[in-house]
Amino acid sequence: MTDVKQHKILLDESEMPTRWYNVLHDLPTPPPPPLHPGTGQPIGPEDLTPLFPMALIEQEVSTEQYVDIPDEVLDVYRLWRPSPLFRAHRLEKALGTPAKIYYKYEGVSPAGSHKPNTAVPQAYYNKQAGISKLTTETGAGQWGTSLAFACAQYDMECEVWQVRASYDQKPYRRMMIETFGGTVHPSPSELTAAGRAILAEHPDSTGSLGIAISEAVEVAAQDPTINYALGSVLNHVLLHQTIIGEEALLQLAKIGETPDLLVGCTGGGSNFGGLMFPFLREKWAGRISPEVRAVEPSACPTLTQGTYAYDFGDTAGMTPLMKMHTLGHDFVPDPIHSGGLRYHGMSPLISHLYETGEIGAVAKPQSECFAAGVLFARTEGIVPAPEPTHALAAAIEEAVRCKETGEEKVILTALCGHGHLDLPAYAAYLAGDVEDTSWEDDALQAAVAEALTKLAQLS
Ligand SMILES: *Cc1c(COP(=O)(O)O)cnc(C)c1O
Repeated sequence: MTDVKQHKILLDESEMPTRWYNVLHDLPTPPPPPLHPGTGQPIGPEDLTPLFPMALIEQEVSTEQYVDIPDEVLDVYRLWRPSPLFRAHRLEKALGTPAKIYYKYEGVSPAGSHKPNTAVPQAYYNKQAGISKLTTETGAGQWGTSLAFACAQYDMECEVWQVRASYDQKPYRRMMIETFGGTVHPSPSELTAAGRAILAEHPDSTGSLGIAISEAVEVAAQDPTINYALGSVLNHVLLHQTIIGEEALLQLAKIGETPDLLVGCTGGGSNFGGLMFPFLREKWAGRISPEVRAVEPSACPTLTQGTYAYDFGDTAGMTPLMKMHTLGHDFVPDPIHSGGLRYHGMSPLISHLYETGEIGAVAKPQSECFAAGVLFARTEGIVPAPEPTHALAAAIEEAVRCKETGEEKVILTALCGHGHLDLPAYAAYLAGDVEDTSWEDDALQAAVAEALTKLAQLS
């Protein structure tokens, strides 16, 4: 046999990391604290206890370098972890690039994305605290599916408010949530005061993530046996996702490879932070020196065009104020196909790293991303979720640049989910029905300017 290529770099179950990495420990300067919207003072644990268990609140503010992963969580992780690292030989060949492209594939999880990495520990710590039910919101349904699976592991109930538009248009995620034992309501619903208020005014409301958050939070805040869970943005969520980067470091070490460029897509920043933080630790320790780049949709360019300011995490203005890159909590992005990247804000940790120049960012139009996704599917055999096609587009762009310069760059990206339930989006792209919104569009600039003006009035 000639030319036998190694596609997969695998770890044994026994090699799986047993602790999460807390980037807060190694940050040169700490990020600004979240503020109470009423007092303008930093929030304390007591402000969060109606919604979160103390173990997660402690992780949110901890500066310990590592947090041990509980055995009961490791046991569930081992259903799909360690996840494979792939070398994209066939994509490289199609591009004719001397660059080496690696992708860490999280689509092997029960929900088909990275989100169970945090859903499982969140359910676990809530169960430990005596909580019997978790509520949450979901847009396209990735997070709701992950939390429903996690609750099933610890014999807990899971109640999900799904944005009406996707509840109607994307029934498969709802069916998956129900199969895992969760309950799904279209949002706005008659079950909450927040939902009833919206329905009274707009009986045909198609909902929004902001309204769904208000409903899930309202139910959790009123009952001491019910808590709320969030799938991105917060420090403890990014902490749990660092299992991705810790595994990838071990996998690259196995083949003696050092990355030159790390690219990942950013919605709230959790899959990106999960892959990048352990590599940043190694970079700060002087052992490697990769460039780190976030990729966001040009229809929702939070890092590249947003402002760095205190803003609410939700549209309704119920959450603490977080210092982050934001387009304004009133900003409603175009309904692009990457539902997971349509968030007005960005993780405070990722925003801080961007502000301090530790990471860079680019924005990509969705047609370029779908083109990258289709090329990836045809060469590597995995149909990516629309979100990570943003990272793939940036990786491909770099690989093509390497073709011109002859550089043998090592590129690593997170393929944070598969697109099996997003096939209608691919169908739309293949039919030529995908439109691009970019920062050059006056309408986008005007919408952001208006949302930011309202934000400025806050302070
Ligand atoms: C939710 C989701 C995202 C966006 O969330 P991050 O916190 O930015 O990772 C991206 N990709 C997939 C597949 C998702 O499910």
